[in-house]
Amino acid sequence: MTHALAAAAGAHGATVLHNTAVTSLQVTNGHVDGVLTSTGLHAATTVVLTAGVPKLCEPLSADLAIAASPATLARVTAPPGLVKTIVAGPGFEVREVRDGDLLLVVPHVEGTAAAREQAAQDALQHLQATFQEGDQCRLLGYRTGQRPMPAHGPVIGYATHDRSVYVAVMHSAITLAPTVGRLVADKLVTGRPAPELQRCRPRAH
Ligand SMILES: Cc1cc2nc3c(=O)[nH]c(=O)nc-3n(C[C@H](O)[C@H](O)[C@H](O)COP(=O)(O)OP(=O)(O)OC[C@H]3O[C@@H](n4cnc5c(N)ncnc54)[C@H](O)[C@@H]3O)c2cc1C
Repeated sequence: MTHALAAAAGAHGATVLHNTAVTSLQVTNGHVDGVLTSTGLHAATTVVLTAGVPKLCEPLSADLAIAASPATLARVTAPPGLVKTIVAGPGFEVREVRDGDLLLVVPHVEGTAAAREQAAQDALQHLQATFQEGDQCRLLGYRTGQRPMPAHGPVIGYATHDRSVYVAVMHSAITLAPTVGRLVADKLVTGRPAPELQRCRPRAH
């Protein structure tokens, strides 16, 4: 899905820079006029931040009240069709993302790599015990991500008075993305207000 969206944006004239980390906002005389990245400076009249937990906003002293909620996801191989829908049990949640390729939610544990490894192995054992042929499931790996968790609902709008920074952070963003993406794109391209987003405006603004 993300690749398809990036390809479509490219087909409509967007320049998509892969493997390019934004390291900071470029601020000139108190005004944001671009981003500094691992591949150099990219000037912009408006910087649109949709980078999950908005660390890049810190210099703006805009208190967006967005926490980070860690979540660990594991990839598991399994007999195709073993998991037919989203299955949520005590201590695990699993879904098949493609034939024989499962996404397993592992209860998040703070602490050492060994503790996280143990949590992933425990979740795998839970999965194996729950399904017939579960013993054929194998752990491919796992990663911990930070889910952006805005304290007061979606945060969507200009984060600075001079409108040089626009943020869009929400949870559950996959569900909300089609509608919010359309509203934000229309707002930024046409300048037309989006009444649906009114109550999502950053409190700082
Ligand atoms: C286990 C689990 C289950 C979930 N289930 C659901 C669900 O069923 N439905 C639902 O709607 N949501 C669900 N969510 C939440 C959903 O994943 C998040 O709400 C969504 O991913 C947030 O989207 P986002 O684009 O705002 O941020 P992210 O998905 O975090 O994307 C941010 C992007 O910005 C990039 N980025 C960050 N910093 C920089 C930087 N400095 N420079 C360049 N790039 C940067 C990151 O690499 C990433 O690609 C779930 C999350 C988890 C972990």
